[in-house]
Formats: sequence, structure tokens, C-alpha cells
Amino acid sequence: MDWKAKRKGSTMSDQSPAKKHGDAFENLLHESRSFPPSAEFAASAVATSSLYEEAAADGPEFWARQARDILTWDRDFTQALDWSDAPFAKWFVGGTLNAAYNALDRHVEEGRGDRVAIYFEGEPGDTRSYTYAQLTEEVKKAANAFESLGVAKGDRVAVYLPMIPEAVITMLACARIGAVHSVVFGGFSADALRSRIDDAEAKLVVTADGSYRRGKPSALKPAVDEALAKPGHTVDNVLVVRRNGEPVEWNEGLDNWWHDVVDTASAEHTAVAHDSEHPLFILYTSGTTGKPKGILHTTGGFLTQTAFTHRNTFDLHPETDVYWCTADIGWVTGHSYVTYAPLVNGATQLIYEGTPDTPHQGRWWELVEKYKVSILYTAPTAIRTCMKWGRDIPQKFNLDSIRVLGSVGEPINPEAWMWYRQVIGGNGGKKDHPAPIVDTWWQTETGGHMIAPMPGVTATKPGSAQVAVPGISVDVVDEMGEPVPNGSGGFLVIKEPWPAMLRGIWGDPERFKETYWNRFDTMYFAGDGAKKDEDGDIWLLGRVDDVMNVSGHRLSTTEIESALVSHPSVAEAAVVGAADETTGEAVVAFVILRGSAKDDDDIVTTLRNHVGKEIGPIAKPRHILVVPELPKTRSGKIMRRLLKDVAEGREAGDSSTLADNTVMQQIAESLKN
Ligand code: ATP
Ligand code: MG
Repeated sequence: MDWKAKRKGSTMSDQSPAKKHGDAFENLLHESRSFPPSAEFAASAVATSSLYEEAAADGPEFWARQARDILTWDRDFTQALDWSDAPFAKWFVGGTLNAAYNALDRHVEEGRGDRVAIYFEGEPGDTRSYTYAQLTEEVKKAANAFESLGVAKGDRVAVYLPMIPEAVITMLACARIGAVHSVVFGGFSADALRSRIDDAEAKLVVTADGSYRRGKPSALKPAVDEALAKPGHTVDNVLVVRRNGEPVEWNEGLDNWWHDVVDTASAEHTAVAHDSEHPLFILYTSGTTGKPKGILHTTGGFLTQTAFTHRNTFDLHPETDVYWCTADIGWVTGHSYVTYAPLVNGATQLIYEGTPDTPHQGRWWELVEKYKVSILYTAPTAIRTCMKWGRDIPQKFNLDSIRVLGSVGEPINPEAWMWYRQVIGGNGGKKDHPAPIVDTWWQTETGGHMIAPMPGVTATKPGSAQVAVPGISVDVVDEMGEPVPNGSGGFLVIKEPWPAMLRGIWGDPERFKETYWNRFDTMYFAGDGAKKDEDGDIWLLGRVDDVMNVSGHRLSTTEIESALVSHPSVAEAAVVGAADETTGEAVVAFVILRGSAKDDDDIVTTLRNHVGKEIGPIAKPRHILVVPELPKTRSGKIMRRLLKDVAEGREAGDSSTLADNTVMQQIAESLKN
């Protein structure tokens, strides 16, 4: 299919000063492909267009209806939303419920106990599965064990675990007893763990001896030992899952084996109801733009919005679908769309411990085939990596089961979107109607999806998250807070409170107000730039902190990166603005080439010209640097601020949340040559 031909001519013709300075972002990249849902898909879709109408007519009452429909309340609420203490919201006021009961017990009570809740596949190939009845029993045991270790309602529990079922069991056991979990990425250092333990004053740490990564045992417990070596912490107990059997140091009086304490605990445990606004968890943001923030989420609103979006955005049919979200539980996607929403919805999901290329680059697709995964939710970085490895790898597997594809974490470049659609969603071109792609925009702070197409309703566009979820009110505004017209760019804001919104930053209410509510007073400022296209659909343009100002033109990193990725030689690209005496800022691009492409002067000239052709001469990078890797957080986001340091010849800043801390070294080495 020659979809490229459908692109509009895309040179910048209008460069009048009014146009130049009118937009917070210039709107440069043109993309006009659109894919309506197939009639067959639409006929059995969960979401319908009437949801938008109902939500617009009913405001918070729309969410009240969802809350009653989706969740089982112990005591019904009396008010949908209390916004009298804005920006601190209270949703479903007066209601009480238990999150674990909603995710587990009620499915068993209602006859769904034999349905598989979790298929687990370890990296070495070991497997386990849990039905809803079995998972309920495990969580009850863990809840009893945590209580026997002195954890009570309101206490904080730090979770430092690999992607194994015990991670989900731990989070739900906390929720069951009203303890507040704070999950810390297994890849983070002892220092990062300690600072999060201290910030939340955690009483219990749940960890494992280690896990398997890239075919080798990888240790976790030593980092916990190191984190707790210095006195002055609040931890009374460490609970250790035996995962890889590697020897560990043992601190008598502090350490407990999971198999001694949890496996022997009673499987009888009654879930008591907690207030709708009872804290559910604290989670630190990924730190792409600076020091991570401890985001606080509560119970009723969070569960309502995450479960509602999980059903509608992914078209979930819980009796038949097999859902797989590849996110680690260490970031918000693993909270909302692994631990909570799928289980509240009674879905069957896959959890995979390891990396996508162990023992071979087709591991993910092998898992899709083996478990007949029908809904796959992953990040653009993973899709671009698979593109780099080549389409012949997924094409060796039968991906026919896939019905819906999701994307989260970063803007998805149109080129990666098309690849995802054809190669994965179209089973390598064998399907007449490839699976719809839902690009979901949201943040740790928003708790659940905020902008996303609805499969079966929305005609999807490559690279755009498009429309606000029903019941969510977003806009793109200029510096004065006025909505921009279609065809223009600006700042993404959320105009009304939403059920899964953060309730604050742990221990720092002032920072909550300053960070999100100062810029536009009554609107939540997300920190992201966006544009509206001619249809009013929303395109994310990257962080406003990353906007480049080149000779008075405000350019988005995302658009230039997408133009680079649309060249067949480029696998991944990251763009930053570096200080420049003549132009204010100059565009500097870091690119990873695809396997077959050669790194020489020609490629740099070719790529500069390609960007010039795709979006206009002003966007041509001043420098293009070919690198072996890009600095990414554990959740797969590119850390542009570190590349900016490189581009401006500085020592790179705080890189403590990088997935691989050798990357900056690798880049420095490659640039020496
Ligand atoms: P910090 O706030 O500490 O800098 P972070 O913003 O990277 O960290 P997250 O909450 O994990 O931490 O990421 C949310 C951000 O990810 C959004 O603000 C947005 O920039 C980006 N993002 C997420 N999903 C999408 C998407 N579908 N399209 C575009 N951007 C997205
Ligand atoms: Mg953020």
C-alpha cells in the first residue's frame, strides 16, 4: 500500500511574522492518513459514541454512574465530586470500598473464580498461572502476613520487586489492609531506594533475592541491604521472595523469607472497606524533566477511571480477551493497567518477567502466539526497537490473535505507528483489517488515560492521541490560557477535575499547587505541548521544557524526531536545542541508524535534507550525531536534558533514573571517533 503518497505537500510556505509568533508551538509536520474502524469491529465494540454525549451532558454524575456500575461499594457515596478545596479533589464522597475486594473476591463470589487472572512467564521460560480464586487466596495470605509483621492501615510499604506475580500480590495485599504501597523500580540504585523509603517513612520493604534479566540472574537484595545499612531509617521488616535462588546476606531480626511468612499464613482474611479517598499508593514520576515527585493516589476515583478506560480504550471483552501490558510495575502504567484495572475488570492477563530479546529477538511475538494475546499495550520505544531489528522477526510468528494495540509513554512517530499497525496489528499484512491502535496520553499524575481514541468509534490517525476520553475535559491554550484555534499549537491543559487525578505530592501540598496550578490558575497544566489539527484532534508535541526556539520559531522536538524516523535509515532519534549565538538555539539531533545504514558524511547530509523536505528548512538540524544508544528512563522515555548537556558541552546532569547508566559513556565514546 502506498500510504506515503497520501501525505500532504509539507514545505513551510507561510512564514509571516504573525504566524511565526502566534503559536506557542509551530505546527509543522503534516500527516493526513486516517483509518476508520471496520464495520465488524464497530458492531461489537464496548465503546459507543453515546458515551461522549452522556459525559458532556452529565458532568461528574457521568463518573458517579461509572463508579456504581464498575465497582462494588460497601457503602454508597453521597456526592460525586467535592471541589470546594480546589485543587484538592474528593471523589465519591462518603463511599467506602476495598480495592482488593473489587479486584479479586467479588469475581470469585460471582462465579468467575476459575477464570485465569494471570499467566506468568519467567525469562528462563518457567511458567505459573493463577485463577481469580487462587490469586484471591494468595493475596489473603499476604495480607495476613503483612499484618503479622506489624503493618496496619495507613502505614507505607516500599516494594522493590521484579515483574513477578508477587509484585501484584504485594500491591493488592497492601490495598486490602489499607496500607499505602510505594513501588520503586527494581533497576534503581540503593540510594534511590533509600530516598524513597525515607520520603514515605516505609515500615516494610518487600523485595526478592533477584530476578532474571538477559539470561542471567540479576540481584536485588544487596541494594536493599545497602539502602538500609545506614541507620536512621523507619523500616522494621524486609520480606524477601526467593526468585532466582542466588545466595543473599541475611540480617537477623530484619529479614524474613516470603515462603516462611506468607506461604504459611492463613488464607482467611476479610477485606474491610476503606473511605473512597483513602490513600492507595505513592508513586514517583520517572524524572524525565527533573527531580521525581511522589504522586499520591486514592481509592474510589482511581479505580473508577482506570477500569472505565481499560474497558473502553482497549475494547475489553473479559471472557475472551488475553491482555498483555508490557510495562513494569515500577511505573504508573504497571499500577493502573497491570495491577488494578485488568483485575477490577475480571480480565485475563499475561505478565512477563524479562527483556524482549532474551533468548532471541522474537520473544515477545512468541509469547503473543503462545498465549493468543488479543490486546497488546506497549511503548513507542519498544516499537522502534523492534523496527530496528526488522519485520522478518515478528513475521515468523502467528500474530493473528491481536485485535487491539495500545501505545503509551511518548508521542508515537507516525512511521512507528504504521509499522505497528501493519507488522503487528496486521499480522505482517495478512489481515484485511489490521487491529486499531490506541495512542493513550496520560501521566503518573492523571492516574488513567486522558486522551485516547476509542476503537470502534474513532477513525485513528498515525501519531495522534486525538480526543479526550469521555468525561475528561482537555484543551490546548496559548500563553494567556485562551484556547488556540484548530491548526495551531500551545500548552495542553485539563480544565475540569477528573476521578483518577493525583491528590497531591506526598508531604508537599505547596509543590503540588506550584507545579500544576500556578501557570493557568484554574486549569491543570500538564507540562506538555500539543497542537490541534484542522479537525480539532490533539497531537502531543513533547515537553514544553524541550521546545526549541530557533530564530524566533518555536519548534517541537517530537515533529523533528518523527521526520527523522520517517527516513528508512533511521531507527530512533532524539532532538534537542543547543544554545547558539546567532539563532538563539540550534537543532541538534542524535540518531541511531537501522542495521543496514552506513554512518558517513552522506547520511548526515541526506538526513538534514530529508528533514528540510518533510517539515521545512528552519527545522533542519545544525548537527546530526550518530550514536549507538539513547539515554532512556526505565519506562523507556528519552532523557533529552542529558543530551542537551552533551550538545552544549557540559558534564551530564542527574542520571539516577536511567535504565542503563553506561549509555552516556557509550555516547561520549562514539562522539570521540
Ligand atoms: P517527570 O514528571 O518526573 O519529569 P515523566 O513526566 O517522564 O517524569 P511520567 O508520568 O511517567 O513521568 O510520564 C508522563 C509524560 O509522558 C507525559 O507528561 C508526556 O510527556 C509523556 N507521554 C505519556 N504518554 C504519551 C503519549 N501517548 N503521547 C505523548 N506523550 C506521552
Ligand atoms: Mg511529568
